[in-house]
Amino acid sequence: MTPAEEKPVRVRLAPSPTGHLHVGTARTALFNWLFARQHGGSFILRIEDTDKERSVQEYEREILDGLAWLGLSWDEGPVYTATSHKLPATSYKGNYGPYRQSERTARYRHYLQALLDEGKAYYCYCTKEALEAERELMLADGRPPKYGGHCRNLSLPPSGAIPETIRFKTPEAEIEFKDMIRGKITFDGNLLGDMVIAKNLDTPLYNFAVVVDDVDMRITHVIRGEDHLPNTPKQILFQRALGFAEPAYAHLPLILGKNREKMSKRHAETSLLEYRTRGYLPEAVINFLALLGWHPQGDEEIFSLDALTKEFSLKRVQKGGAVFDEEKLEWMNAAHIKRLPVEEVAARLKDFLPHAEASYDRQFLVKVVALERDRLKTLGNFFELAGFFFELPEYDSGLLTWQDTGPLKTKEILEKAARIIESLPPSEFGKESLARVFEDLVQEEGRGGVLWPLRVAVSGRAASPDPLDIISILEKDETLRRVRTAIQKIESTIVL
Ligand code: GLU
Repeated sequence: MTPAEEKPVRVRLAPSPTGHLHVGTARTALFNWLFARQHGGSFILRIEDTDKERSVQEYEREILDGLAWLGLSWDEGPVYTATSHKLPATSYKGNYGPYRQSERTARYRHYLQALLDEGKAYYCYCTKEALEAERELMLADGRPPKYGGHCRNLSLPPSGAIPETIRFKTPEAEIEFKDMIRGKITFDGNLLGDMVIAKNLDTPLYNFAVVVDDVDMRITHVIRGEDHLPNTPKQILFQRALGFAEPAYAHLPLILGKNREKMSKRHAETSLLEYRTRGYLPEAVINFLALLGWHPQGDEEIFSLDALTKEFSLKRVQKGGAVFDEEKLEWMNAAHIKRLPVEEVAARLKDFLPHAEASYDRQFLVKVVALERDRLKTLGNFFELAGFFFELPEYDSGLLTWQDTGPLKTKEILEKAARIIESLPPSEFGKESLARVFEDLVQEEGRGGVLWPLRVAVSGRAASPDPLDIISILEKDETLRRVRTAIQKIESTIVL
């Protein structure tokens, strides 16, 4: 057992707020969160905003919102007030803000100074131009480019020169570590050259800041995307130089588009919150993200977050890339919508209704949802499917006629239907009673002959649920109004 495994598990998500919250970051968050929950450990959120020019407050906000939406709460952090950090005071669990690198400059400064004092790092005076020229030369010689070490052994700074960067004295060593997913990994340290670790004492670069953060935050396991694999040997060298313990590493497989290339916007939407906007359930997104690289033991594919907490294991995470299949996500979303109680689906439609929620009759909405729920792919397509319940769409009178039934006959059938509906007490609008009262007419005129014009009359559409289901929801007055509209429409096409 390595020392890291004996300590209470502490993992982190360390996103940079330099773009929309990527689905890959959300997957990393989920795997870390599950690992923490399974081991009774802590999940820490750290915003990596050392790159001041590219870090944007809105993107940080998106990270917090995205995690809150998925239900992946983090366990600790500085206690912020709403005013000090522009966070709504009640939105995030315990009012913990995330840790932010921008607030930890003193810590990086301390360790940078320590490396300089111990001769493990040095100021570099080489200009960008000089470095570029050196690089070109090495490439022309067919050598892998790395820093030539010009400033490594300077006894005195060049007169009048200002340091450009702080460099790490990379030892010439082989770096080996065990990845929990990939097994033993070896890097040749000779290829690295002396690396820049900071622009100056107050501006560390990513790889250095991460090492200080991980030790300060007592991180035991670093679970992150495979794209960070090349950073790991560098970080291990810094840990060794500073005398820090090495955390365990697990690098998650890349997420690929359908053609197995690295996923870009061309393959699928990559911004997590875009899926919320489109009407995906967080439950479905969680389920889908879990299967991006992890395989359960059995055939079951539908998992709740609770079930995942029981089932998930890093041991079943694959090495090869995981394909992001949007159709599968849509299928999964439909499956999760079906599992929700009708009332709950109705409540979640709140943000997807064209008008203010209060303007909808709750009971009516719930009835419509009960009929349409199992057809929904996303909450966002509810109105596409069911909008006609709330407002009869425009339709062409020609749609009312069934096969070769002419307009006169169609009108006659609709008038008979109207009379049947008129004769029925409002309490009798259940589907069975409706089927009973329409039985004779259907016998006389055929199913299509009656139900087709009736469907178009009540829905304005060629495809809809069973017209009798629709009528039982619209009830007497609205159904009559719609059938009469249809009669008028067809009348206007009859040339006398
Ligand atoms: N800040 C890095 C990113 O956004 C993650 C760093 C890490 O996980 O070590 O990709």
